[in-house]
Amino acid sequence: MTSRINGRTRLAGVIGHPLNHTLSPAMHNAAYETLDLDWVYIPLHLADETDLMRFLGAARVLPFVGFNVTMPFKQSMLSMCDEVAMLAQLAGAVNTVHCVDGRFIGYNTDGRGLIESLAAETGFVPEGRSVAIIGAGGAAGAALIALILGKASKVSIVNRSLDKAEELVERVISHARSTELRSVELSAAEESVTTADLIINATPLGMKDGDPSPVPGEWFSATQVACDMIYGPNTTPFVESARAAGATAVDGLGMLVHQGAISIDIWSESAQVRAPREVMHEAALARLRAGRPEGGGK
Ligand code: NAP
Repeated sequence: MTSRINGRTRLAGVIGHPLNHTLSPAMHNAAYETLDLDWVYIPLHLADETDLMRFLGAARVLPFVGFNVTMPFKQSMLSMCDEVAMLAQLAGAVNTVHCVDGRFIGYNTDGRGLIESLAAETGFVPEGRSVAIIGAGGAAGAALIALILGKASKVSIVNRSLDKAEELVERVISHARSTELRSVELSAAEESVTTADLIINATPLGMKDGDPSPVPGEWFSATQVACDMIYGPNTTPFVESARAAGATAVDGLGMLVHQGAISIDIWSESAQVRAPREVMHEAALARLRAGRPEGGGK
């Protein structure tokens, strides 16, 4: 890949920390090679907001086509873009920046990535379906917006802190014309979860050894689809207990791949280019198997 780098090569990358085990360079660079794009994708470790400001100054003059944003800068990037797409504004987070003539255009591809991956891996389409999202942070917000746009009939935001769930619902409720929204405390979520067609884990519970599933296994059933946003070499307790109940359960690798693919579609600005999802999935999986510990995010 490095043999391709020349005087016209454009830059892309992911900013955040920690990035030691990021799968994004592997899957992006594999896609650029397949598409014959003269781009290179690198991890850009930024320790804090001071680093972030310095990086943004540099990115305005360097040949960046764009960059992805991961923890802990997804929220703060919202106010640092020159323009923010409606979807990212509603989600309350930017995970993709397109650099255009020294300006930053912010997007959020997490929600669309989730919906695309669910359709590809499980056949789930949100229209008319009932969903329970466990968690009320940035990833839950992105999923919620995508489900509203996908015309889900009902979405319950189930969270440990009820006030966060209520805030999220409040922020998007005026856009939810065909979707009924509810905020529910995690400890009182049995009805919301057992009656949902799709259950999403958008909490970090399951990343560490010994973490339990955020919801009891008895709440899953065979007709449901379950999606853990976490991915890793090991199956999470959430996915394990959903599968034990006969549900169709997937981890977050597909979401990671599809959100990255949509970033490439945005950066390439050409209707002719569609990032090769299969190639990216293979590259991410190979990197994961080569030794990335369990985790989530980019
Ligand atoms: P976040 O903004 O920090 O939100 C975390 C949410 O999880 C909050 O609602 C928090 O509840 C809840 N939570 C945290 N610890 C908990 C616990 N011990 N028990 C119950 N609830 C708990 O994080 P995020 O950015 O939304 O990310 C959430 C997860 O999605 C992470 O694991 C991340 O890696 C993953 N993710 C994956 C992808 C992908 O492409 N696969 C993309 C984005 C994110 P409180 O409000 O009560 O604190």
